[in-house]
Amino acid sequence: HAKSEGRGRFRFFSEEMNHKILHRVALENALRQGLERGEFFLHYQPQWDLRTNKMVGAEVLLRWQSADFGLMLPSDFISLTEDSGLILGIGEWVLRSACLQARLWAEQGHPEFRVAVNVSGKQLKQQDFVAMLNQVIWETGVDPKSLELEFTESVIMENADRTIETLEALKNMGVQLSIDDFGTGYSSLNYLKHFPVDRIKIDRSFVADVSRSNDDAAIVEAIITMAQSLSLKVLAEGVENSDQLHHLSELGCDEVQGFYLAKPMPADALEGSLGREHGRRIGKHEVTE
Ligand code: C2E
Ligand code: MG
Ligand code: MG
Ligand code: MG
Repeated sequence: HAKSEGRGRFRFFSEEMNHKILHRVALENALRQGLERGEFFLHYQPQWDLRTNKMVGAEVLLRWQSADFGLMLPSDFISLTEDSGLILGIGEWVLRSACLQARLWAEQGHPEFRVAVNVSGKQLKQQDFVAMLNQVIWETGVDPKSLELEFTESVIMENADRTIETLEALKNMGVQLSIDDFGTGYSSLNYLKHFPVDRIKIDRSFVADVSRSNDDAAIVEAIITMAQSLSLKVLAEGVENSDQLHHLSELGCDEVQGFYLAKPMPADALEGSLGREHGRRIGKHEVTE
């Protein structure tokens, strides 16, 4: 019967919806408790200067070891924390932990080492973000110049006028600012000069084919040329082989980050290599590991 079939389908559909909603609620509850239970931790992915081949900084990447869901990566939970507002508390925890780590490294003889923290649009829009960061910097005793904040291109372009004001306030505190996933948004390159940023991170989708596609190589070259004329540093993310490293080096890219050089790792695993050279080959058509 069409009628009962219809009802059956409806029930099936609604059970699936119920399941999704229940999963979301469970995930949100687990996230809520995650902070108190100390389930979050940080990995650090090294960043190297291509001129000296030395490790000059690291990006801070959030990890969640959930009692209920196991090990979770940002793609599993960040958007939910943004929708629920939980990103504000979690983001503050990330900033405080990263600043403490940067201060420890400075005390261990690496005052120039930079720690880069991802900041969500929700955090940037928060009324007291600048005041909160000020507090965190003061409490942790970190030198603000060793802290970098990463914002994605789309977050920066959204409500650009207000963003510029906030970024200027952050810049006045002495922190460094970078634009993440650059090239994936819709900003005109020329518009960039209005933003007080120090560094552009070229999205890994352009890096992936930089040695195989003339188009991608041309885009990367254009970004680097434009950045140089605006006195901005360029970091390429997602470097996975020596071929890409070679091309980025030839194109004049300042800094690199990616699995070929090092994967994200706990802070103590990185300690022995702060300020050291990567020792990787930079070459055309070489066999990679
Ligand atoms: P992102 O800021 O673009 O971070 C780089 C991502 O690329 C990381 O994934 C990193 O593990 C990965 N990656 C690094 N090198 C390579 C490579 O050579 N090849 C490939 N295929 N991938 C590479 P992860 O850790 O899963 O983070 C994903 C995204 O989650 C980040 O993208 C960032 O937008 C967000 N995120 C991470 N931590 C935080 C945080 O504390 N707060 C906020 N708001 N967002 C965060
Ligand atoms: Mg990032
Ligand atoms: Mg990125
Ligand atoms: Mg990304």
